[in-house]
Amino acid sequence: MLVPTEPIGSIPRPIELIDAIAAHPGGDPNDLALQPLYDAAIRDTIARFEATGSPVITDGEQRKYHNFWTYCVHGLPNTAPDGFQIPFAAGHVRRMPRLTGGPFRYKRSADEYLDIALRFAHVPVKQAVISPSALSLMYPADEIAGYPRDQFIEDLLNEHESEIRSCLRKGADKVQVDFTEGRLAVKIDPTGKLLHSFIDLNNLALARFSPEERQRIGIHTCPGGDRDSTHSGDVDYAELLPSLFELKAGNFYVALAGEKDRIRVLKIIRDCLKPDQRVFVGVVAPIDPHVETPEEVRDRVLEAAKYIPIEQLGTTDDCGFSPFCDDISTTRDTAFAKIRSRILGTELAAKIIGGS
Ligand SMILES: [Zn+2]
Repeated sequence: MLVPTEPIGSIPRPIELIDAIAAHPGGDPNDLALQPLYDAAIRDTIARFEATGSPVITDGEQRKYHNFWTYCVHGLPNTAPDGFQIPFAAGHVRRMPRLTGGPFRYKRSADEYLDIALRFAHVPVKQAVISPSALSLMYPADEIAGYPRDQFIEDLLNEHESEIRSCLRKGADKVQVDFTEGRLAVKIDPTGKLLHSFIDLNNLALARFSPEERQRIGIHTCPGGDRDSTHSGDVDYAELLPSLFELKAGNFYVALAGEKDRIRVLKIIRDCLKPDQRVFVGVVAPIDPHVETPEEVRDRVLEAAKYIPIEQLGTTDDCGFSPFCDDISTTRDTAFAKIRSRILGTELAAKIIGGS
């Protein structure tokens, strides 16, 4: 395919599943009562994804319980609920757990989701995982007695590496590392120190993989997308992108459709992108209720192709359609309509670029 196209990951859950999870907020994702709802949600999501013509799909992250960030640590006994907070422009706050003691181990790994998706899928499946930098925010400011921060970081890198390796081994088409906190880091710390510490940490993880493996690993950046709002949409991409492309990954999934000045962002990407990297630019915006037409998508791809070499260009969604499970601001119908436009619009552009 001349211009590859991939989703980010999440699709809004069916309302019956959201209601069942909301009935037990501190509950267990393996609760037997939830399993038939999960199975139905995954089957329906994969069938509808394939019906869009998407060459690569996901399971819609239906089983990522509360969200894309804490799925692997939800329910750990050595945590407390009062951890790091993400304030969104809409006025609400999302919160992650705080680590209270070592050792740090994942409670579950994303390859479990891949196992199930691969049973139902007829086309390649990608799998998103959370970044080490996001999970590093679980460690409190004051050192945990008997469990130094350095030991935590080593345990975290081991857990993350083994999650990615399991996904690659089981046949994930790509493994996408969700790095929404990159742009947020610039907002929290305008000096850039926090962002650079995140880049260094994630590069420690990426350095554990071979160049061939890194061609199947990607990084997703966005200003956040929850209840139709962002957490860092006001942060200038120029503060983030040069550092982002220092990450030793082969693929980058960059929110672009929702940006005010796309040309400016494309020029920055052009200047930062390395020869062994491909950038998938966002051509539909999940937090915008307007369903983009295939023609609008086509024009965005052609615009991007003026700045990015075609062999290094792909398209994607700006973000997941429901990174947090209780977000009902977008319907499943709208999400799949936008994905269909992304597929059709990318094909239209590829035909023009390819000269047919
Ligand atoms: Zn995102």
